[in-house]
Amino acid sequence: MLQKKIKKIFIGSNNRGKLKEIADLLPKNIKIYSNLDFKFSSPRETGKTFQENSLLKAKYFSKKSKKICLSDDSGIEVDILNKEPGIYSADWAGKKRNFNLAIKKLYRRILNKDKNWKNKKIKARFVCALTIYWPNGKFVSKIGKVEGRISNSKKGNNGFGYDPIFIPDSNLMTFGQMKPSKKYRLDHRYKAFNKIKKFF
Ligand code: IMP
Repeated sequence: MLQKKIKKIFIGSNNRGKLKEIADLLPKNIKIYSNLDFKFSSPRETGKTFQENSLLKAKYFSKKSKKICLSDDSGIEVDILNKEPGIYSADWAGKKRNFNLAIKKLYRRILNKDKNWKNKKIKARFVCALTIYWPNGKFVSKIGKVEGRISNSKKGNNGFGYDPIFIPDSNLMTFGQMKPSKKYRLDHRYKAFNKIKKFF
């Protein structure tokens, strides 16, 4: 069956960094609504996986806005920390979403595991689940990942969240040092988006 292209969408996120990145991925002719205009409260993220949480958010914001909704759930997995912080990446930044604190915590945890970590490759990846939820209950959910390593120190002022400490494979710069246009073409969100872009 021919898929009707989405022309209007509610982006279900309160994170301005993500909102901007998702808006930049969508074709320019799409009308975007977001919580910047509506101020809906956020649902509790009770899922056990990125996919469960992105579905839960997309469904919640679609029901609230009565529109087709696109939601993201994402985070960073560090192998030496048994994939922590994972789905708790935002929580590590506390209620005030202070990512200086989150990054300090991550460095402290890595140091506790291995005192010599700065001389090693600390493997990590960003993961993103994107879900489109239609008001009739239909949904599509896809995952994207970007592999890389943790930088020895914070570098760069671009981006958001853990961008200053993540170096994607085959690169020397952190996401925080890259121009947004370069990061957007490498990252987990872009890879997940490529799997759903046929709907737009
Ligand atoms: P949530 O999906 O709203 O639970 O939050 C995911 C958290 O993961 C964000 O607050 C960021 O800290 C982190 N995160 C997800 N994607 C990125 C990214 O592209 N760059 C940096 N941090 C990210």
